[in-house]
Amino acid sequence: MLEIRNLVKSYGNGPRAVDGLNLKVETGDIYGFIGHNGAGKTTTLKCISGILPFEAGEIFVDGIDIKRDPMAAKRIMRYIPDNPDLYTFLTGTGYLNFLCDIYGIDEEARRERIQKYAAAFEIESKLGDLVGSYSHGMCQKLALIGALIQQPKLLMLDEPFVGLDPKAAHTLKGIMHELVENGSAIFFSTHVLEVAEKLCNKIAIIKDGRLIAAGPMDAVRGDNSLEDLFLELTDA
Ligand code: ATP
Repeated sequence: MLEIRNLVKSYGNGPRAVDGLNLKVETGDIYGFIGHNGAGKTTTLKCISGILPFEAGEIFVDGIDIKRDPMAAKRIMRYIPDNPDLYTFLTGTGYLNFLCDIYGIDEEARRERIQKYAAAFEIESKLGDLVGSYSHGMCQKLALIGALIQQPKLLMLDEPFVGLDPKAAHTLKGIMHELVENGSAIFFSTHVLEVAEKLCNKIAIIKDGRLIAAGPMDAVRGDNSLEDLFLELTDA
């Protein structure tokens, strides 16, 4: 579903924020992406989603080269940043309908999906309110619903659990499982290693822009806890 080959990205004349990164995410994967602050996780996610240009490497989403056909790739993937910027002057419903218009989701599907995910995240009663009046967690829920209604083949999330209350975090984990069971793949960054350990079937660890471990959780972790492995690898 996602293949990254030798990705290189620098900001201006600075050092490489991502330095020769190779990674494969397959259908059905819940793939965790971990690394210390400044390791290059957000930069990688932004390169995949087409927000940032990159100087070298190739990225394929479901076989589509994102440089050659960015529109086709964007039709099947969604990226939710850690602090999503929403249109504060729209109501929640207005925002979701706007996204449905962009992604060409028909009336019946949009009604059904908005209802399903708004109920799951318990914000149905707030959808008529202006987004500008939402709390941080409510904005996150709305951004997630906005991505989920597209049923993307590839869903990328930057720190999705930060700011969500425990019930919403639990709901999101269930939805992530449901999405991959229906043929999607999820690639997300997190600092919460306990969540990664329980939720992900695969894990990648990035340090100073380079992948230092990647693959199935059990193979990468071995007999260690993920925390021990992370500390060992990133301290070296
Ligand atoms: P965190 O866990 O703190 O979110 P991260 O792994 O997502 O970190 P990135 O945000 O990708 O890390 O940053 C990777 C490197 O790129 C860091 O050295 C950072 O300082 C640098 N960087 C990120 N954004 C910019 C920018 N807009 N301009 C210049 N340098 C940047």
